Amino acid sequence: MMHIAIVGCGQLSRMLALAGLPLGFTFSFIAAPREDTRCVTGLGTTATWQPGQPVGHLYQALGQPDCVTVEKEQVDAGLLTQLQHYCPVLPNPEAVATCGHRWRERQLLVRLGIPCAAHRYDTPASQCVASLSLPLVAKSCRDGYDGKNQWRLDTPEDVASFDRQQLYRDCIIEQRIPFERELSQVSVRSRTGRICHYPLTDNHHENGILVQSVAPAVDVPATIASQAQDMISRIMEALDYVGVMAMECFLVSGELLVNELAPRVHNSGHWTQSGSATSQFENHVRAIAGLELGGTDMHGVCGMLNLIGTQRPPVDLLSASTTLHWYGKTVRPARKLGHVNFRARSHPELVQEIGRFQQSCTRVQPA
Ligand code: ADP
Ligand code: MG
Repeated sequence: MMHIAIVGCGQLSRMLALAGLPLGFTFSFIAAPREDTRCVTGLGTTATWQPGQPVGHLYQALGQPDCVTVEKEQVDAGLLTQLQHYCPVLPNPEAVATCGHRWRERQLLVRLGIPCAAHRYDTPASQCVASLSLPLVAKSCRDGYDGKNQWRLDTPEDVASFDRQQLYRDCIIEQRIPFERELSQVSVRSRTGRICHYPLTDNHHENGILVQSVAPAVDVPATIASQAQDMISRIMEALDYVGVMAMECFLVSGELLVNELAPRVHNSGHWTQSGSATSQFENHVRAIAGLELGGTDMHGVCGMLNLIGTQRPPVDLLSASTTLHWYGKTVRPARKLGHVNFRARSHPELVQEIGRFQQSCTRVQPA
């Protein structure tokens, strides 16, 4: 029996708990002040913590967990390092902090010789245009997700206005990559250092938000797939990482460029709930609990459609090969509210099924 506390109360925490409960594990959740905790209702105790508060009291309020993990990388560094005095924190606080700051993350990639877009840190865009040509993308190093806190710089006017507002502070500015595809590698590393990889996943984003994933990614040369596995293995080993990690990549001119790392379960791995011997959620729980990892073999082809700002689909839309994961959040336009997983015999069949489902979803209108 093991009690795991998770930092965050969103859908990833919900699905981690839903995967760990059948193992006989119990869960509790650390909420930020005013955080919406509806996703984890009924799955365990929730305790609120704000920076500066003593952690001993939090540890008691959570019910003395055996282990702490995270559903997000934007976590107060002090919280994790202090919790380490009470129980293991996995992945380790240093790894979470590295992946929680884009520039630190890029420095790690550069140090390991892993290709990423040419970039500058904390530098006015006007000074970047000499070496990085327009168009550029600027990204805040902290608190970015789903394309938030990013700026597209297409013209000299965009550059001037960006600099005038001093938006470059604690930002990276990088080349806009004319990528052919976006691929992600989700892998898991156990406490004993064993690594298992899920197949490469093909991701389609709109306005910086993941809309759908297909796995395994079609027509990817075996060399690319093994390169992705080699890169994430080296990253996890360098960080002495335990748990699931996702690595988002651009495929450009037949080469992989790493765009970002997530020190946690990832949206592009949700299909593993239906398509893999063991889901990313169960494997994360197994890894941090010190258990043997579960198989990452795939059954057939799989897809995932995010339900973004849509009403909960009527369950009679579900077919024998689709499953619905509705998170129970307050419905709002542009918010990730759930996802649907699809299984099929072939990629054309899968794409058709996803398209059909997408057509029948009802968008919520802005108030
Ligand atoms: P986050 O997912 O944390 O919001 P990302 O860096 O992954 O931030 O950016 C979100 C999406 O924006 C990417 O998946 C990609 O579609 C697009 N994007 C990000 N950086 C670039 C870039 N340098 N060139 C082209 N597209 C980009
Ligand atoms: Mg991303």
